Amino acid sequence: MTVRLDRFMASANTAYYANRDPFADFTTAPEITQAFGEVLGAWCAVTWDTMGRPDPVTLAELGPGRGTLMADLLRGIRRAAPGFAGSARVHLVETSPRLRAAQAAVIPAATWHDQAEHLPPGPMLLLANEFLDALPIRQFLRRDGHWLERHVADGAWVDLPTPGPAQPAPDGTLLEHGQAALDVVRAVADHVVADGGAALFLDYGPAVSEPGSSLQALRGGRPADPLADPGSADLTAHVDFSACADEARAAGAAVHGPEAQGVFLTRLGLFQRTSRLAQGLPPARALGLMQAAERLTGHAWMGRLFKALCLTHPALPQPPGFADAC
Ligand code: SAH
Repeated sequence: MTVRLDRFMASANTAYYANRDPFADFTTAPEITQAFGEVLGAWCAVTWDTMGRPDPVTLAELGPGRGTLMADLLRGIRRAAPGFAGSARVHLVETSPRLRAAQAAVIPAATWHDQAEHLPPGPMLLLANEFLDALPIRQFLRRDGHWLERHVADGAWVDLPTPGPAQPAPDGTLLEHGQAALDVVRAVADHVVADGGAALFLDYGPAVSEPGSSLQALRGGRPADPLADPGSADLTAHVDFSACADEARAAGAAVHGPEAQGVFLTRLGLFQRTSRLAQGLPPARALGLMQAAERLTGHAWMGRLFKALCLTHPALPQPPGFADAC
């Protein structure tokens, strides 16, 4: 059977997230340090204040994994911003039954949804960390002056003729298109433009779209063949931040960033929060916390390839962590 790459990726990832423990194959920022969720909780509290402190307010997360980010965030805001904590109603968008159960164990008072379009109307703050990269992409190859689209058949690539993208490109060019990510961004942008609020996407990819394949499979923390044994490895692709920003602007949202994650988290006070957490700890544990903060912000680690992109209702001021509205 021959299937288009996006359909292959969608069914492989649905099986993967339903049956596997993804965190055996990769780790994410909230799993690296609790300071990540805590500074994002402060970000939400400040943004909620600029929204005029709506009560109730939807506090949503897309693809919450083990629920660690939301649990750290809620713990932080209960202490630092009790007014916001009291107003927030937690809504989680998750398709994997297995991960929903893991999330329910740490965030009992949440409501689950299958897709972002089903979030309840009303003012909203939304977070999504490493969510868009798991959504399916299509790939187009330019060969002999024509476009081919990549398909998968029995674990091998099959490239079939297609009208392809309208843009001209030299032979050998590979372009990616992630419609599913754009659909999510559009739905979230429509929501915050209609009802107020802000959404923060943290993910990896270049600030400006680049040609070339970014499809990647990870199994046991190591790169694997993306076509072999579908559902056994995490399949991801780079997020096209400029296309996401254009989609949000077309919906009428204000767009901030993309900003490098290292710059963004440093501006939010990741290192100050880390120092506070390290106080009084044995030196080895304090060092571990500092190294975790370095891992999220260092250029060679997650600080530069990972980006923060924020969309807001156009009446909101620039949110914390961003330097210039684009
Ligand atoms: N945000 C978490 C987990 C990232 S892994 C963290 O930072 O640790 C990707 C998450 O998105 C998982 O929870 C996965 O089950 C979920 N997911 C993937 N595709 C999805 C889809 N199409 N709809 C809803 N959730 C999805």
